[in-house]
Amino acid sequence: MANQPELLVEELALLGEGPLWLPESKMLMWVDIEGMCIHQYSPGMDVKEVIRVGERIGAVVPAADGRMVCALQSGFAYLDLTSKGLEPIADPERDWPNNRFNDGKCDPAGRFWAGTMPLEGDSPAGALYRLDGSGMVTKMLSGVGCSNGLAWDAAATSMYYIDTPSGRVDRFDYDVLTGNIKNRRAAFHLPSGQGSPDGMTIDLEGMLWVAHWGGSCVSRWNPVTGKCLETVSLPVSQVTSCCFGGEDLDELYITSARAGLSEEQLRTEPLAGGIFKYTPGVRGVPANVFKLK
Ligand code: ZN
Repeated sequence: MANQPELLVEELALLGEGPLWLPESKMLMWVDIEGMCIHQYSPGMDVKEVIRVGERIGAVVPAADGRMVCALQSGFAYLDLTSKGLEPIADPERDWPNNRFNDGKCDPAGRFWAGTMPLEGDSPAGALYRLDGSGMVTKMLSGVGCSNGLAWDAAATSMYYIDTPSGRVDRFDYDVLTGNIKNRRAAFHLPSGQGSPDGMTIDLEGMLWVAHWGGSCVSRWNPVTGKCLETVSLPVSQVTSCCFGGEDLDELYITSARAGLSEEQLRTEPLAGGIFKYTPGVRGVPANVFKLK
């Protein structure tokens, strides 16, 4: 029988996003942006936990000191996993209450990149920010419609980025020493009728795995040739992001969303919002960690 994705855990998110594998604790973590919480799940032990943060949360990343860093609607903040306490770091959009943080990830040097989007409408009012280990925030891009997937290649010379309404995955030249990006160009476009690009991750062979919002699949791409290599169908339409995990980083964990679906759509895709597991036959790379300076 063909390799098929299966439901990992019956934990249906309104807007599941930002899956993250934590190798030390062997936990999968993801956020429910509209559910205003972080989920933790250990696939082997069947241990579940929900951390409520009390506001929309776009992304969470591990910090080198054992804490987590969150991109909340109120800005960047540390999260202590033991006390569950939040400690604000910086809020670059204090004057933009109609925006919220969306997807984010750390770069190979340990800087946290996270972007924003308008809560309503599709004006390009969002931006992409970079939080450095010193606590300084730099606006790296403006005019963003819906800031989403991020990935860096193994050589740490390219950064891949998705602004969802563009329908593309873009590539930048990336300078690991300074954290600067330049020379933006399209790596590839998603074919029409297959939804919009949302979150993504990169595998050991340098290929990108892209979640299709409204497209019921995840696809694997060669970002150099722009060729699609594989498409993995899912029983849910709003596929939001994916990451590699498991002890050998050989499983792909995929998030999805229920928010915005009609009663009728929810009847035809009852697992919407679930987390799925797929065995792709290739390994991923460990998530980068936020490095404090
Ligand atoms: Zn997303």
